[in-house]
Parts: sequence; C-alpha cells; structure tokens
Amino acid sequence: MPFFQSPPVLPDTWVSDVPLQEHLERLLPVDMLAGVRPQLAELGRLAATTLHDLAAEAERDQPRHIPFDAWGRRSDQIAVSPAWEELHTWQVRLGLCAVPYDTEATGYKEHARVVQMALHHLYGPSSATYTCPVAMTDAAARVLLDHADVPLRDRVVARLTSRDPDAAWTSGQWMTEREGGSDVSRTATIARQGANGSWTLHGTKWFTSATTANCALALARPEGAESGSRGLALFLVERIDPRTGESQIGDTIRINRLKDKLGTKSMPTAELTLDGAFATPVGPVEHGVRKISGMLNITRFHNAMGASGGMRRGVELAVAYSRVREATGSRLIDLPLHTETLAAMSVDAEAAFALTVRVAHLIGRAEHGTATDAEQQSLRALIPVTKLLTGKDAVALASEALEAFGGAGYIEDTGLPLLLRNAQVLPIWEGTTNVLSLDLLRAATRNAVLPALFEDLAARLGDADVVALAESVRLVAAERDRLMSDAQGWHAADTAVVQAGMRQFAIRLGRAYTAALLCEHAAYRLAKHDDDRAALVARRYVRSRLAGAAEWSRPDPAESAAILMRGHAQPQGS
Ligand SMILES: Cc1cc2nc3c(=O)[nH]c(=O)nc-3n(C[C@H](O)[C@H](O)[C@H](O)COP(=O)(O)OP(=O)(O)OC[C@H]3O[C@@H](n4cnc5c(N)ncnc54)[C@H](O)[C@@H]3O)c2cc1C
Repeated sequence: MPFFQSPPVLPDTWVSDVPLQEHLERLLPVDMLAGVRPQLAELGRLAATTLHDLAAEAERDQPRHIPFDAWGRRSDQIAVSPAWEELHTWQVRLGLCAVPYDTEATGYKEHARVVQMALHHLYGPSSATYTCPVAMTDAAARVLLDHADVPLRDRVVARLTSRDPDAAWTSGQWMTEREGGSDVSRTATIARQGANGSWTLHGTKWFTSATTANCALALARPEGAESGSRGLALFLVERIDPRTGESQIGDTIRINRLKDKLGTKSMPTAELTLDGAFATPVGPVEHGVRKISGMLNITRFHNAMGASGGMRRGVELAVAYSRVREATGSRLIDLPLHTETLAAMSVDAEAAFALTVRVAHLIGRAEHGTATDAEQQSLRALIPVTKLLTGKDAVALASEALEAFGGAGYIEDTGLPLLLRNAQVLPIWEGTTNVLSLDLLRAATRNAVLPALFEDLAARLGDADVVALAESVRLVAAERDRLMSDAQGWHAADTAVVQAGMRQFAIRLGRAYTAALLCEHAAYRLAKHDDDRAALVARRYVRSRLAGAAEWSRPDPAESAAILMRGHAQPQGS
C-alpha cells in the first residue's frame, strides 16, 4: 500500500474552542448566552463545513473586471464568485452588521459587540475575507448614525444594518489616494457643488475594497476649501444614483483596474476614477477627518476580530494535523517540541481573543452610554494598541501555522498558504503599525488617556489576586510601573526619540494589558469553576511575552500538553 499523508480535518469550531466558550460565559449574562448559544453552535458546525467550502470556492473563483460590454460600451462590471455572494447572504442572515444596532429588539444592549465578536470569530475564518466588507458596512452605519442628516441616515442605515439578504446593502470606504493612505491630508479628489445644490466628486481613489458595494464613504475637498486635512469633507457615494435609479459604475465612476494582490484575492479591490459621481454630504460639508475617526474605531476593531479569529483557525488546523501526522514513530502532538510550539500558538491566539473581546465590551458600553469617562479613555488607547498588536501577532502565527505542516504548508492547493496571505494585510490596512503607534502617542499627549488605561490594567490585576497567579501578577505590575515611568519621561525627551520608541512602547503596553486580562479571566475560572486551564495560559503568556529570559528558561512539557488538550476540545465521535 502506498503511503499518503492525511489532511487535517477542521473540527466543529464552536465545540473545539474552549477559550471562546469560557470568555463568553464570563462576559455575557446567563440568559443572553443561553439565547445565543444555539446560533453559535450551529455556526461552529457551518464554519467547518458549508462556509468553509464556500470560502474555498470564492478563493478559487476570483473577481474579474469586465471594462466593456459586447457592443463596446464602457460597463466596468466586476464579476464575483457566486460563492462570494453566498458568503454575503450568510453574514446578513447572521446579523453581523445588525447585531450592534438592533440591540433593543434583541436585548443585547451594551453586550451587543461581544455577541458580534463571537459570531465574527466563527464566521470570519471561513468567509474568504468577506469580513472586510462587513467591517466597512458596520463602520459606515456608525458614521451615518453619528453625523448624517436625518433623510440620508434613515434611508441608508436601515439597509446597512438589515438582516434581510434582499434588502441589505454593503458599504466601502474610499480614502486612500496615490498621494497617501496613512496621510490623507493631501487628498486630491475635489467635491464640486452644482447650481442645483447637489455635489459631484472628481478624482482618483487608489484602493477601494469590496468595489461592488452599494455605497461608499469618500473623502473629498470641496472646491475652494483650505489645503491639508482640515479642508476635507465626507460624502456618501451610491452605486445607483438615488435621483435617477441609474448605475454610476462605468459612467461617473470608472474602474481603472483591479489590484493584483498578495491576498484577500476573493474580494475585488479597485483603482477608481470619479468623474462627476453624484455624492451626498455626510452632515455639514466640513470636518471630514474628524468624522472618519468613528469609522476607524470600528474598522480597527473589526481588524482585530479578524486577526484573533484567524489566529485561532491557524492553531486549530495545526492541532488537527498534529493528531494525524506521524514523525519518528509518534504523532506530532505527542512530540514534546512540537507540543511546545503548538501550545505557544494556542496561548497567543487566546491572548488576541482576550484583548479584542475587552475592546468589544468597552465599545458596546460606549455605544450604549454606560461607559464611564475612564473606560472611554481606556478604549481610546486600546483601539490602536489592539489593532497593531493583534495584526502583528496574526502574521507571526500564520507563518508558524504553515511551518507546522512542513512542506504541505507551502503548497497552494492545501489551502494553507491563504492563512499567511490573508493575515499579511492585517498590519497594513486601517493604519499600519507605525501609524497606530503614533495615534497612541497622540491620544496620550493630547487626550491624556494613559493614566486611565494604567488604572484599568491595575483593576484587572486586582481581580486576579490569588495565590496561583501571584508571580504572574507581580511581573505584570512591574511591567506596568516601567511603562508608566517611560511615559512620564516623554515630556522631557526629544520628540524624535519618543516617536522612534513608540512602536516598542505600544507593543509592550498591549502585552502587559493582555496579560492582566488573562490573569483576570484565570482568577474567575479558578474561583467560579475550580478550573486552572486559564491559569496555565495566563502564566505561560506572562513568562513568554513579559518576563526576561531567566524566568522563561525551563519549559514544562506537561503544562504545554495540558494547554493544548484542554484548550482544543475534540468533538464527540471524532
Ligand atoms: C488589500 C488592501 C485593501 C485596501 N482597501 C482600502 C480601501 O478599501 N479603502 C481605502 O481607503 N484604503 C484601502 N487600502 C489602503 C490602506 O489603507 C493603505 O495602504 C494604508 O493605510 C497605508 O497607506 P499607504 O499605502 O499610503 O502607505 P504609506 O502611508 O505611504 O506608508 C508607508 C510606510 O511608512 C510608514 N509610515 C507612514 N507614516 C509614518 C509616520 N508618520 N511615521 C512613521 N512611519 C510612517 C508606514 O507605517 C508604512 O510602513 C487597502 C490596502 C490594501 C493592501
């Protein structure tokens, strides 16, 4: 009999994801979790079957630009995979963009973002990056609710947050131009007002993802407005001109080409020319950059959800493979060094989840008016930190996941290289690591948000005051003190020196805060369930990500095996 390698079988992603279930049990009221659990259980099964197959098909059948119709007329159609369309239908039915907004009807209220994250965590890794249009649609709803005039708001938000696949719209965001993405102050697109008072846009947008969306938020400079970011205004461009019912695509919106990207290949990302596209101002024609800050909060949170879900998927697949692949006479999962590698990945994935779900919790409270001032300040600092840390960790973990498959991880038709390609965009879009590090510095110096975050961190540690975690709590508290002292030194330091150190500072801050969250969760599990799985995870994260080499010198194979076995439940019968 010839020998063939066995492929990994993705388990039911709800059943196997012990950390997800545990964190939800701590964060959601009992009745609410009981209400949403059947949907999550069904989604966990679908993510490993129907959605997984749709995603694979969407990745195979990539979008195509059809510039002209058969008769030579400019049409600029983008043909997308039917599987991509079905992934849209699924996200609408799941209510991924509805859950944060129909919170009175569902009763989720301030917990809505945590519920959204649970759904996203299961759907995202099997969506072929449909999570990108989901992020932009959610963010557009937020911006329109906060800033649009009533007629525009009422007409469009209901569509963006609909649970009806026939009625639901998606939105894009058209910010980046050739002149800059991180720095939008050089935006060259002009907004021109006609004699009848309506506005049209003229210029080139350099990156427009989900270009088939029904509408998009676009930055443009009203004619005669001042240069720099202060002169920019925000507009909503609709694919179908609402005045005429005619498509603007191929006419006033021309698609120059689709980008040839490293990843996110199932999703069209185009370069566009706006040549008189009809657009509606979002509120008064001013303060465009201020308005998109609310949009960025949401898309950065989505980016972190995508990173966290993708990390769990990478470990899930690597663990599944380690159960079927043998080397030197043992299954990979029984080899101490491989177990050690997988345990490190599993801990990092849980850490990303813990940090992001904390942001979900705080956004939900902010949106429902229950967040304290201190929580809002903490959230302001946490959004850039969470986006940048999870983005970087997602790429590192995806790379490790491919290596865990040996040569198979490098072969396209195993589907594994996708993990790395799709992860690599996470540190780039919605603000690069450096841009977010400087955003943290801005929030710290202009809005003085760090004291609130340090207090918040201390409160998480205070809840973890148990013997089993004493050493970890001590190490995290010491790192917090060092970070506070570093930040206090900024006012006397050279600006260039402070800026040059910001990436390292932001990453250290993210790690320390995450460690505190893991300790808090571990203490809860010990007290409420007499369960030390989360304590193993917290201690390991602190030792590997915070402590010096001395504390981290002696591995513990039994502990690593326990982290893996108890964090990745095997569905019955498998
Ligand atoms: C697949 C994909 C899809 C995208 N989709 C969209 C979309 O739908 N809509 C949209 O508007 N945009 C989109 N983008 C664009 C994306 O948001 C930008 O590429 C990103 O914000 C970075 O901007 P940039 O390309 O101008 O890079 P730059 O700003 O030129 O950055 C280049 C480098 O300089 C660094 N840098 C920049 N400023 C500073 C600073 N002050 N200090 C230190 N370092 C700095 C950055 O960290 C980076 O490493 C997409 C990008 C990709 C890859």
